[in-house]
Amino acid sequence: RKPPSRRGSMADVPKDLLDQINRLEELFTVPQEKLKQITDHFVSELTKGLTVEGGSIPMNPTWCMGFPDGYETGTFLALDMGGTNLRVCEINLPEEKGEFDIIQSKYRMPEELKTGTADELWDYVADCLQQFIEYHHEGEELDQLPLGFTFSYPATQEYIDHGVLQRWTKGFDIEGVEGKDVVPPFEAALAERGVPIKLTALVNDTTGTLIASAYTDTDIKIGCIFGTGCNAAYMEDCGSIPKLAHMKLDPNLPMAINCEWGAFDNEHKVLPRTPYDIIIDKESPRPGQQSFEKMIAGLYLGEIFRLVLVDLHGNPDVKIFDGQDIGKLKKAYSLDASFLAQIEEDPFENLSETQDLFANKLSITTSKPELELCRRLAELIGTRAARLSACGVAAICKKKGISSCHVGADGSVFNKYPHFKARGAQALREILDWPKGKKDPIEILPAEDGSGVGAALISALTLKRCKEGQ
Ligand code: BGC
Ligand code: MG
Repeated sequence: RKPPSRRGSMADVPKDLLDQINRLEELFTVPQEKLKQITDHFVSELTKGLTVEGGSIPMNPTWCMGFPDGYETGTFLALDMGGTNLRVCEINLPEEKGEFDIIQSKYRMPEELKTGTADELWDYVADCLQQFIEYHHEGEELDQLPLGFTFSYPATQEYIDHGVLQRWTKGFDIEGVEGKDVVPPFEAALAERGVPIKLTALVNDTTGTLIASAYTDTDIKIGCIFGTGCNAAYMEDCGSIPKLAHMKLDPNLPMAINCEWGAFDNEHKVLPRTPYDIIIDKESPRPGQQSFEKMIAGLYLGEIFRLVLVDLHGNPDVKIFDGQDIGKLKKAYSLDASFLAQIEEDPFENLSETQDLFANKLSITTSKPELELCRRLAELIGTRAARLSACGVAAICKKKGISSCHVGADGSVFNKYPHFKARGAQALREILDWPKGKKDPIEILPAEDGSGVGAALISALTLKRCKEGQ
């Protein structure tokens, strides 16, 4: 069902709403020149993050040192602690090149856990792992199983099997974890239960995505997540990481860098932030952080949309949802990115699906002009997210001097948000001055399972490196 073109559908929109649509277009549109400016600043911030002084982008060394060759073997567990689910996988890497088998169980990540205590978190995680082992290996005598733990938050790592949480992101706010190594309490919870698991590697989801995608596609140079949060990893040479110079590593050794680019422009130099972005930041548990992420990631897209509508409703010069109780709309984070996705996917000229959405979810009756405004607003927010994302990808390529490559991408926004891929590709063409219709030099493609297969591969690579005594 291809949505009809909505051009010309603004004919009956009254002046106050039309003025607002124009204002929103102005606020949320990122023109080509701005994309280029953001990209250039991004390049210098990536470089700065690798220096001893550092910058706002953490550029975390991951100790994942090199790509797989496709012949990795063994059986590994992988744990993915995401925002909505906790997933446990067992991955078998057979002799055949680039192959894998996977079994997995998903557990719900209870909402209370995200703002609870550290003990509750690690107990829950260990319980899930224990359940998984009991279910899949009932009655077996087990040696310690190696585990790749995908911990998708910024962590400082001096070794691959340790990581000090720099700060929570994505709305997590568990006290007593920031600034500490997350591995000891995790292992203690496992030991308490006698679960035969040995953590081999602590992995960011972007690093996992990079490695899993490179396992099957050797053109992959970058791994990205566009989901609840947003971030990327790529392979750097140790010689280009001044903050590791004191370690005297071979300058030609590769090292995956988890950029943590969500923190890009925390000092507000280039990003075209709107008043709504400023509110999102202020009301978040970590104001001043993840500026880039807060304009792009799935966690925030619905909230930006909601804040605009609440603002318009409260504006005496604008008639929208006039005289209606907007109590439900007033609840923070009541709309998620899938709400916007559904609006953008409404195939009907009269936007009747959007009308139903507003009625059912928010108890708001909408007129045709109001629906037109909502549709346009969703498009603007979704388009801005995709275009800003492209700046990060282009910046890594520019920094590394990569003129053509594949980028492995995963996450709910990338996989499910309508037109995200096409809009991102269009923005890349604008940044690179590349004509449409000619084969794109940089292509962002759906990734292999980074938090499962990627974490397993990184565990395999780590064990191999240990054996070789590197
Ligand atoms: C985290 C990153 C993660 C990204 C995608 C961000 O909020 O800081 O570590 O890679 O979300 O999950
Ligand atoms: Mg994830």
